[in-house]
Amino acid sequence: MMFITDDPVRDSLRYQSDLDDWEARLPKCDLCGEPVDTFLYDVEGNLLCQYCMVEAIRISVDDLMED
Ligand SMILES: [Zn+2]
Repeated sequence: MMFITDDPVRDSLRYQSDLDDWEARLPKCDLCGEPVDTFLYDVEGNLLCQYCMVEAIRISVDDLMED
């Protein structure tokens, strides 16, 4: 909730503070610890951001190929 006062500096500080609160409440990626505001991915019980999710489930074709 944002409050508007007649003091633009205070409003700006409060707005930043609201953003900080919002970010502090965001769920964090279990792997990299970054706050996530879009989607988390449940990979074997871990909640991962999209980047860590890709790393977690990606398999290199080279690893699957026989020599
Ligand atoms: Zn992550």
